[in-house]
Amino acid sequence: MSAAYAALARGGKYVKPYFYTKVVDREGQVILEKEPEEERVFQEETCYLLTQAMKDVISGGSTNISSSKTELAGKTGTTDNNVHAWFCGYSPDYSLSVWYGYDENLVQTDQGDYSLEIGIFGGDKPGPAGMFEAVMNDLPVKNSTFKKPAGIVEVEIDRASGKLPTELTELDVRGSQKGKEYFSTNNQPREKDDLHKEADVCSSSKLLSQDGCESERGAVLDLSKIRKVAGIEYEGDYGKLEAYKEGAVQTCDGNHSTAPPFSTGSSLSLSTGETREVIVSTQDPLKELYLTGDSVRGSIQGSSATLTGIKKGEAVLTAKTDSQTYTLQITVQ
Ligand SMILES: [Zn+2]
Repeated sequence: MSAAYAALARGGKYVKPYFYTKVVDREGQVILEKEPEEERVFQEETCYLLTQAMKDVISGGSTNISSSKTELAGKTGTTDNNVHAWFCGYSPDYSLSVWYGYDENLVQTDQGDYSLEIGIFGGDKPGPAGMFEAVMNDLPVKNSTFKKPAGIVEVEIDRASGKLPTELTELDVRGSQKGKEYFSTNNQPREKDDLHKEADVCSSSKLLSQDGCESERGAVLDLSKIRKVAGIEYEGDYGKLEAYKEGAVQTCDGNHSTAPPFSTGSSLSLSTGETREVIVSTQDPLKELYLTGDSVRGSIQGSSATLTGIKKGEAVLTAKTDSQTYTLQITVQ
């Protein structure tokens, strides 16, 4: 496993693991020497892009590991029923795989056979990721950064379309959608963003303006051009996609304020098993209030929703009036 990851750290060259470099006799004469054979299995550019992606995996999400001495990249792995947990990763100098589990995970009883859950995930600290981090921080470092091959460029992009940004990219009602990504030079974006369209925006609430708003120039996504988002058919899908859709086209409610109508603010974090009541107070009469996502169970009565976290994940509470749609992002931890 580590040899496979090492090929990524080595710019795409795989070397079959070996156990000695040389054997000498007592006079220092070499009697056996191992010449490692390299075989190119990935392109250098591909390795660099994969490494960038796996640098993101370990920072800021559910896995958070780092070293003050060197760059790290890696990936967690957890099997069904939580029977094995892996963390495999590498620095520019070393590749290391950590496995937690039972090598013979079979418990036989009169009632039948079963396997033991280890109760640990690949990204856990303490756990596989924690052990990886501790060892990597302890090793001497020669090269601290992954070498960028000549065929890689960092390009400024529009996050909505992945194409080159335009003036409208920065005027998006949700805030600037400008970002940076690495590309191989033969695959870098060359066309300009065409998903944004110009719109009048209320200068106070930064939502689409209506009569009575003091307007300024802004941009929204041209939804007629979106068929799929992240592989999901756009029409009729709920949850995150709904929030994305509505979030891009909300109209100022005349109060010129962005304050959400939910008693919890614009987002809500729940622990599994925790119950919270959310009261919705909208300017116009509330027409619909519904919950999407299977991480939260809810009972809704009028303008009050009682929500219970069921399992880790996300859900969305949507409130609609005749003119507005509001969404509350719920995260269950
Ligand atoms: Zn307004």
